[in-house]
Amino acid sequence: MLNADEMPCYFQGRYVPLKDANINIRTHAMQYGTAVFGGIRGYWNAEKKNLYVFRLHDHWQRLRQSGKIMQMHWQMEFEEFEQIVLKILRDGNWQCNVYLRPVIYKNALELSPRLHNVTDDFSVYAIPLNDYLDTRNGLKVCVSSWTRISDNQIPTRAKATGGYINSALAKSEAIQNGFDEAIFLDVHGNVSEGSAENLFIVRNGKLITATVTDSILEGITRRSILEIAQNLGIVVIERPISRTELYVADEAFFSGTGVQVAWISSVDRRTIGSGTIGALTEKLQNTFFKIVTGEDAAYSKWQTSVY
Ligand code: PMP
Repeated sequence: MLNADEMPCYFQGRYVPLKDANINIRTHAMQYGTAVFGGIRGYWNAEKKNLYVFRLHDHWQRLRQSGKIMQMHWQMEFEEFEQIVLKILRDGNWQCNVYLRPVIYKNALELSPRLHNVTDDFSVYAIPLNDYLDTRNGLKVCVSSWTRISDNQIPTRAKATGGYINSALAKSEAIQNGFDEAIFLDVHGNVSEGSAENLFIVRNGKLITATVTDSILEGITRRSILEIAQNLGIVVIERPISRTELYVADEAFFSGTGVQVAWISSVDRRTIGSGTIGALTEKLQNTFFKIVTGEDAAYSKWQTSVY
């Protein structure tokens, strides 16, 4: 049985077992939520005996942008980032679906919530991960009583740890009320995203998702779905979505690295469509899983082969 704790990770410029990658209680990021992170999946293809990391370059770029927003000093070039990721995966001889978590965190042992003049450090670790939410049976979701943080409060464009308090409040409320996941509305009352995933709806054969100015994280899976859909000849529209459009949508699904593509069966107890997976969602989900597992050569540009 694989023990993630024994697996190598990158920490303070060295490769150490994950169980030894520990930080001081005084760490700035721990006190004030001043860390930014990524979540990247690698898919194991047993037939090809290879592990495919999905859109590594895009994840590096988003991490750099998150760091820039948070006044971090981390300037690692992609080539070095890629070498670190490949080394921890190869040295761990990972042969299963894997989730990578790169993080830049303000590591100074200092008081005062600020961004400037605080040092930062970079780390990456890997854990095994299969489905995060059920992708086969529909998800029962609710609109959260919590409002999505806006760009001028805690920017969701930066994948910052502190912002995930907003997600945690919504997620726990949803689960404790008997739902599987929450959907946020933004400060204007428009649909934003899930607690850790972007959202799509289908209306009259068109695929609709909120815009990048609707307080969402600019999801890499979202971007992928938009491109895949266009290649399949599906009309895609990025525009604000109203709450009740969710209730009357023909289909709805979440996208994200963790959630992958997971369809929604009801929102606030209103059944979506016929209560089964919709035709467009199914097509996109099937195509997505083929791509990420390395079964669609047309999208090999999105893959980094580990072995
Ligand atoms: N929104 C939020 C708040 C998230 O945490 C995530 C997961 N990273 C997403 C959307 C989906 O982004 P991605 O497709 O890049 O994983």
